[in-house]
Amino acid sequence: GLRVLEALAASGLRSIRFAREVPGLGAIVACDRSAAAVTAMARNVAINGVGGLVTPHLGDARMLMYQSKADRAPFDVIDLDPYGSPSPFLDAAVQAVSEGGLLCVTCTDMGVMAGNSPETCYSKYGAVSLKGKFCHEMALRIVLHSLDLRANCYQRFVVPLLSLSADFYIRVFVRVFTGQAKVKASASKQALVFHCVGCGSHHLQRLGRATTHGSSLKFGAASGPPVGPTCEFCHHRHQLGGPVWAEPLHDPEFVGGVLGALERSPGRFTTEPRLRGVLSVISEELGDVPLYYTLDGLSSTIRSNTPSLLQLRSALLHAGFRVSLSHACKNAVKTDAPPAVLWDIMRCWAKLHPVKLERLPDTSPAARILSVEPTLQASFALRDDANPSSRKRGLKRFPENPEAFWGPKARAKAG
Ligand SMILES: [Zn+2]
Repeated sequence: GLRVLEALAASGLRSIRFAREVPGLGAIVACDRSAAAVTAMARNVAINGVGGLVTPHLGDARMLMYQSKADRAPFDVIDLDPYGSPSPFLDAAVQAVSEGGLLCVTCTDMGVMAGNSPETCYSKYGAVSLKGKFCHEMALRIVLHSLDLRANCYQRFVVPLLSLSADFYIRVFVRVFTGQAKVKASASKQALVFHCVGCGSHHLQRLGRATTHGSSLKFGAASGPPVGPTCEFCHHRHQLGGPVWAEPLHDPEFVGGVLGALERSPGRFTTEPRLRGVLSVISEELGDVPLYYTLDGLSSTIRSNTPSLLQLRSALLHAGFRVSLSHACKNAVKTDAPPAVLWDIMRCWAKLHPVKLERLPDTSPAARILSVEPTLQASFALRDDANPSSRKRGLKRFPENPEAFWGPKARAKAG
């Protein structure tokens, strides 16, 4: 059976659920450094009759993980769900997980990761966060960057299975593998983010370059930057963020497998409608397009009224590009169209729905963008394929919070 570690187990609730609900587990270690928590945990384990599977452990989870590596007794699954940032535990976790094993990592320090304190984000995750419209997806990419970089120190690398942004936290599920040759590819999987403070246009700059020579890959320095000193659309300056993970956030096969498992046991989970909705949106996300714009972000930048999601998506499809939603943001427009095309589409929209520019200074992003004639003739005629399947089927994709004062409570007192 699989060996599982819940590194910051508190009451042991999750470990008990693992024992009772997940088939095929061999042993679960539920670790906490609070003696009071471990006493309560032992009681809860006994009450639930899972003492044969769950072992409460009093101690620092890092020491337990380092010792498990020294003893060559790695864990197949390590679950890190601390209050706040998991960053102090990542170095031990990437070493203590078995070959191809699973790390489940939760971050609740969303203020830090979504751009409120980029300098704190750097000290914890080795990446500068930005306050862009795309900040929730960027937070996922920051923690994936951090995990891969720490794994790289030990000739290991991560492969994301599923990366979730939900309400007040994010949670990523990655497998960890070893391979000196494959670790060489990691630099070219990370990217800096240039983000215009005026219009929100963004560009990614990979940290390394991988080129194929026959059957082998050669690695070298990337060339750049992809932008000039000021934004070509609105002439404002760029902020620099990252580095972030620039490869896919999810493994489509894994996501499809989870959706299939939900189909096969209807009614098993009370959260099934939401699980199905979120996973369906995830399965539709463009995997090869990092970050996104938002519908309201695009229209408020040029001070126009807002096209419907279907109108904008249709225009992008008519222009020959791909477009998807993102589970991380309700109004996301994830597209492989470059910003030049997006702004041309918005210029065409403004011709159909004129914008009052008289009161705007000539230096405003709206005035600058709309002073240029579009080179593309956008069509907003609705296309049937502009409506994503998850939306057509009326799935519960972005639920409201269930009750007042719902969300994380104050940090527990040490005890
Ligand atoms: Zn700009």
